[in-house]
Amino acid sequence: MEKHYVKIRSIKKVTHDTLGIITDKPENYNFKPGQATNIALDREGWVDEKRPFTFASLPEDDFLEFIIKTYPEHDGTTDKLLEVKAGENLILNEIFGSINYKGEGVFIAGGSGVTPFISILRDLYKKNRIGSNKLIFANKTKADIILRDELETMLGDKLINVLSEEKTGEYAHGFVTDELLEREVGDFKGYFYLCGPPMMMMTVEGYLYDLNVDKDRIVKETF
Ligand SMILES: Cc1cc2nc3c(=O)[nH]c(=O)nc-3n(C[C@H](O)[C@H](O)[C@H](O)COP(=O)(O)OP(=O)(O)OC[C@H]3O[C@@H](n4cnc5c(N)ncnc54)[C@H](O)[C@@H]3O)c2cc1C
Repeated sequence: MEKHYVKIRSIKKVTHDTLGIITDKPENYNFKPGQATNIALDREGWVDEKRPFTFASLPEDDFLEFIIKTYPEHDGTTDKLLEVKAGENLILNEIFGSINYKGEGVFIAGGSGVTPFISILRDLYKKNRIGSNKLIFANKTKADIILRDELETMLGDKLINVLSEEKTGEYAHGFVTDELLEREVGDFKGYFYLCGPPMMMMTVEGYLYDLNVDKDRIVKETF
């Protein structure tokens, strides 16, 4: 079974509850933007506690990057990551993941569900191929928006932030609804990339079917 020990080069908060982790990259380690691996901590009692996380870096980078939302209340791996320091190892397992870029469309993410889209969007941006792709990004508050500045730079007005628990005047307020989709999407003929918590996924997928989006145009992963 594939297993790699990689050293953490840096680990720091990118939002109040989300970590950005840069690690070494194993030789000949090939993933596609959108893919993930199961990660465990190389600490006694934690090596079998594998959790799935997505590569945020680009395949050609000589390092790996992960953006990981922490849940202290789970008392699990992400909570433990809050005490991990640069120089420690992470254990990576097989590469997998059902999200990959198929063509222009609309990315719809809830919270840390944006992670598979980060590598995809970075890749498109680098190749000057953002085109008409849009990202509808649902969060509770502005402080929860992961990599807001970078997403704004890459997407400009094609980044649509939706906040359920904060009224800013700047961003849409509420959830991702059918009205919001009709207002923001316009053309329903492209691909829809969905990633987020189960309830959001179920609801948004239902709206997309109501709006006559074909099942084979929906690319999704539940977090
Ligand atoms: C393919 C894939 C890729 C992913 N990539 C990323 C990524 O790049 N970045 C990222 O941030 N996340 C990502 N996730 C989500 C991430 O894997 C989970 O958030 C992580 O496994 C949680 O680990 P944990 O040890 O903190 O919690 P666990 O202990 O593993 O808890 C798992 C689940 O148990 C439940 N649970 C446990 N304890 C509690 C509690 N006290 N209260 C409420 N619910 C509880 C919740 O449903 C929770 O989601 C990905 C998920 C998938 C499927």
